[in-house]
This record gives sequence, C-alpha cells and structure tokens, in this order.
Amino acid sequence: MLVQEQKKNSSSKGVTILGSTGSIGVSTLDVLARHPERYHVFALSAFSRAKELFEQCLRFKPRYAVLADERDAAALADQVKAAGLHTEVLSGEQGLISIAEDARTDYVMAAIVGGAGLPPTLAAAEAGKRVLLANKESLVMAGSLFMKAVWENGAELLPIDSEHNAIFQSMPQNSVSGAGLSSGVRKILLTASGGPFLNTPIEDLSKVTVEQACDHPKWKMGRKISVDSATMMNKGLEVIEACWLFSAQPEQIQVVIHPESIVHSMVDYVDGSVLAQLGNPDMRTPIAYGLSWPERINSGVSALDLFVHNQLNFHRPDFSRFPCLRLAYEAMASGGCAPAVLNAANEQAVAAFLGKKLSFDQIAGVTEQTLALVQGCPVSTLAEVLAVDKIARDQANQTIYKLSQQGSSGRNS
Ligand code: NAD
Ligand code: MG
Repeated sequence: MLVQEQKKNSSSKGVTILGSTGSIGVSTLDVLARHPERYHVFALSAFSRAKELFEQCLRFKPRYAVLADERDAAALADQVKAAGLHTEVLSGEQGLISIAEDARTDYVMAAIVGGAGLPPTLAAAEAGKRVLLANKESLVMAGSLFMKAVWENGAELLPIDSEHNAIFQSMPQNSVSGAGLSSGVRKILLTASGGPFLNTPIEDLSKVTVEQACDHPKWKMGRKISVDSATMMNKGLEVIEACWLFSAQPEQIQVVIHPESIVHSMVDYVDGSVLAQLGNPDMRTPIAYGLSWPERINSGVSALDLFVHNQLNFHRPDFSRFPCLRLAYEAMASGGCAPAVLNAANEQAVAAFLGKKLSFDQIAGVTEQTLALVQGCPVSTLAEVLAVDKIARDQANQTIYKLSQQGSSGRNS
C-alpha cells in the first residue's frame, strides 16, 4: 500500500494537515520535509486553492487530499490520476472529518482558520490523536466539550499557537492535563506584539485600510489572524485558549505587550521564578516542538542572537485602544455561550472588514452588540455550539448590514 511504501520505518508517524495551503500548513510541511524518516504526510486539505494543493500532492504524495467543493474535488481527482499519484480526493466537512479520525493517521495539525476548523479538530480529539492545535477558534467556541473529548479519548493536545507552546514549555511537565492551574504557578504572562497599531492615534483607527491591518510587524500570517492581531482580538482569543489549556481563570492570565516578539510567553511561579521561552518569531519552532514532543528536532529556524535583540520591552495593554481584548476577558468570565458568540461575531466582522463593508474600528462594536443580544444558549454538544454559532453570525450580519447602510448614506449626504 502507498502509505506503507512511504514509511521508512514502522515508527514513522502519519500526519494529517487540516488547512495545508495556509500559513501554518505550509510551515508544517516545511518542518516535515526536513524529517522524512520520522514523519509521512497522510492527508492534506485546502478550502479552494486547488492548484497549491495539487502541487503539495505531487511533492508529498498523501493518501488523501480534501477540497471544500465537490466539483473542485472531482477536477483534482482527475489531475492526480493523470499525474500517476495514488491520492484519493474527498470533499466537504465529511472529508475533513474522515482524514482527521482515520486509524492510519497519528498526528493531526489543526490549521484551518475560524469556526470551520471545529468539527474536524473535535473529531481528531475524539479519535484519540495527537492534536497539534493551531486553530484556537475550536477551543474558544467549544472549550469544555473539546477538553472533555481530549481527556475521555486519551488524545494528546499540543498547543501550536506560539504563546501557548511557550507556556507549555515553561510549565511543569504535562500541565495541559489536570484540574486547576498547576501547583506553584501564580500567573501566566501572555505576551503580545501589540500589532501594527500599537502607537497609532486612536482617532485614526477608523481610517485603517485592509492592507495596513494585514501588515503585521513581526509575523507573516493569514489575513483573519492578522486583522485579529491588529484589534488584539487575537490576544483575547488566546486568553480564552489559555484558560482551557491550562485550567486557568481569566484573572490568572496577564497580557503583556512585548513589541519585539522574542519572548513568546512566561509562567510566573510562587517562589518568584519566571520561566520564559524565547526564540525568533517563526512558527516552525512551535510546530517542530508539537511534532517531536517530548524530544526536539531541527525546525529550520535560525538561532536567536541576543546581541542583535538586545532591547526587550514590556508594557501593560490599554483596553481603550483595544476594546476587543476587554470583550474577550468579559466573555470568558461570563462563560456559557459567550465565548462562542464572541468568536462568531468577530469572524463575521473581520470578514466584513476584509470585504470593505465595515471600518476597522467597528469590529469591536459589532462583537459587543452581538454579545449583548445572544445570551443563555446551551453549548454542551457540538450541535448546540454550531447552533449558537449560527445565531450569532446571523445577528452580527444584521448589525453589519445596518452599519454599512448608515455608512453609505453618510457618504452620500
Ligand atoms: P490561513 O488563512 O493562511 O490558512 C487557512 C487554511 O485553512 C487554508 O489552507 C485554507 O484553505 C483553509 N480553510 C479556510 N477556510 C476553510 C473552510 N471553511 N473549510 C476548510 N478549510 C478552510 O490561516 P493561518 O494563518 O495558517 O491560520 C490557521 C489557524 O492557525 C488559525 O486558526 C489561526 O488563528 C491559527 N494560528 C496561526 C498562526 C500563524 O502564524 N499563521 C499563529 C498561531 C495560530
Ligand atoms: Mg499566537
């Protein structure tokens, strides 16, 4: 069989990448390509970038490839067949779920952006895989359900978000499991670059363009997370993510602005010790750590030169500049469906901003209004989470529509 032919030895791990054409997906393939004796690519997936996915199939010869649309998948199937590959092409959410839970895959890199990542990522946890979690939205939407699936099915949850990977590395061993923050830990210090608008006058934020918002000073990422970094909603989602991963309360997580992005986060212990993980800002470091844990492998990232990075700064975040960060803290503190509503409303607002239907400074307002309107919905099953997600998206879209009408009548007058 093809997969067995590819295996150099019986301990080679099969890896599925959900979202292989994105920023994290491509970095993951870069790390995997450095270690063909340790890993083989079992399955790849993309939303619509069929050309890139085909090129990845030619290079990595996966057993499966998945595209969102059935017709695109059929066209790709013809292409891979003509190229003499044995890759089977699947489509849609069911295709993603089947590659995430397949018995022949060991590790699942969850690198789809947004709420669409939840069903296959949850399926990987339910199937007891090592889940390399980049898709923070899964935990924000369904933290309780997701963590339960991890514990009950013996899955290994390895955080890939650079901050959570740094916290994981700085925590006592195996601290992703267990109830309550690990003993001896006083606080988690979650670092944030502050994004491109850290020092922009607040009154200018209404004029921010898509290009400016996506131009992150330190990290090259997909567009949605780049906008989230600019509003600092990304850090808010990460506060929620850290609460679930490390069994912490929101008030045990202190966001620290660190514009240089060299310290990727820290753990503050009761004896006065602060442990940190440092490195060049390159996602291949946390990806390699997630793949090789508890060992370490070469990631292709260059060594950190402290004589170059000899000025490290730390500041308190300003909630009036970054209202999305405040909203995320509040949503986690209120619990229930609030984090899922926050995530859904933000996703719609960011999509509207990227589509030039909403101004940058309206993203927080849409999210806040949606949080006020959608409350008290149950979130104990996937179906319930997806129902809340839909209600919140519909509500947010209505608000976005009203704002865009006001904006265009304002412009016309
Ligand atoms: P990206 O936009 O570059 O890539 C997203 C991937 O998901 C692509 O392969 C795309 O084809 C696929 N995709 C998008 N929508 C889909 C859908 N509806 N159904 C199926 N597939 C879909 O995003 P990214 O920057 O790689 O981020 C991916 C995830 O990792 C996000 O959750 C992000 O928050 C998280 N993350 C990214 C970084 C980073 O440096 N890029 C760092 C930390 C966490
Ligand atoms: Mg991060």
